[in-house]
Amino acid sequence: MTSQGNNLDRWYGHYADRTAGLSASEVRALFAVASRPEVVSLAGGMPYVSAIPSDLITGSMERVMRDSGPAALQYGSGQGVPALREHILDVMAMEGIRANVDDVVVTTGSQHALELVTKLFINPGDVVLAEGPSYVTAMVVFRSFQAQVEHVEMDDLGLVPEALRQRIAALKADGKRIKFLYTIPTFSNPAGVTLSWERRLEILEIARSNDILVLEDNPYGLLYFDGPPPQAMRSVEEDGVVYLGTFSKTLAPGFRVGWALAPHAIREKLILANEAAVLSPSSFTQMIISDYLSQADWRGQIGTFRDVYRERRDAMLHALEDYLPDLSWTKPAGGFYVWLTLPENLDSKSMLPRAVRELVAYTPGTAFYADGSGRNKMRLAFCYPQPDFIREGIRRLSTVINGELEL
Ligand code: PMP
Repeated sequence: MTSQGNNLDRWYGHYADRTAGLSASEVRALFAVASRPEVVSLAGGMPYVSAIPSDLITGSMERVMRDSGPAALQYGSGQGVPALREHILDVMAMEGIRANVDDVVVTTGSQHALELVTKLFINPGDVVLAEGPSYVTAMVVFRSFQAQVEHVEMDDLGLVPEALRQRIAALKADGKRIKFLYTIPTFSNPAGVTLSWERRLEILEIARSNDILVLEDNPYGLLYFDGPPPQAMRSVEEDGVVYLGTFSKTLAPGFRVGWALAPHAIREKLILANEAAVLSPSSFTQMIISDYLSQADWRGQIGTFRDVYRERRDAMLHALEDYLPDLSWTKPAGGFYVWLTLPENLDSKSMLPRAVRELVAYTPGTAFYADGSGRNKMRLAFCYPQPDFIREGIRRLSTVINGELEL
């Protein structure tokens, strides 16, 4: 890069090499267009926060300020508020995880935990294994630390263990250093797929025998529609798993409170990295959540979210059957997303402007791969629009797809 390289940016030649991976995600660019009210947006994974009674949150805010205002307004511990970490143990217990409160590190959303873990482990050129497709903004983080992201095939039961074995062997034979396996085993983003229990055990065994850390990202596990999913991978393996959780989907993302649960040695480094990045996560929002969890029926509230999202999932699956019966798509048992496969010759990214003209938006499949695959795939998020809008959105989408097929 030279300083003359880009006339629009005076600092073009000055940026660190790692910024080469910091391109605006396709999802981000979409938000601007898709937020117009006449567009049915099936693009962003925005939780339906209107389902939370706001007076409960107001009550928590008032109590926190009345009873512990100075502490809420002060810097706090780099590990997070102890009372909140106790509550986090209760939340994780719902997915079979038994842990010590000392091993929980509160972060500014789980996105920040992703950044911290990557910072701890990745040197330029190190390999991160991830499902194909995988969460777009995790891959932005991995690339910003100059990791090489290698996708491993998944099917309706999640990551394929044999494909993982082969990929690890091939990468090792190539002299690569594989640092961790990043996985969203339950109601994955974007595929809406859940890793079976048998495969969880098998994949943990593969990781253990190859000395590869598992980074288990689980924002959606409690949002199940048809019965509880298999328990978290961290419930069977302590030493080899860093587990990430968040209040973004079971409460609200605006608080920006998530957490990492890590083996002791990693946890110590995570706290130092957290302090280096933010000094301490927000005392104010942690204390509000902690109060909410001790005062409100939070399990009941998660049940309400399940009902809301189940109805929307059903609306989307029925609409797909009615309007696009010849295509195939995943059938999520929880979470926010359906993954749709178009005919081979269609390209969801180049089709998007036409879709937006027809007032429907989605996220193109290529956003979820580091290697340009996924051209004929798309992610459809059913979390935010009302069920009848979802149906209308799929109807519009079918017009766009059928129009493309006639070209
Ligand atoms: N991981 C996954 C798989 C996600 O879908 C998201 C949010 N879209 C995050 C992490 C980040 O969530 P937050 O920072 O709000 O906790």
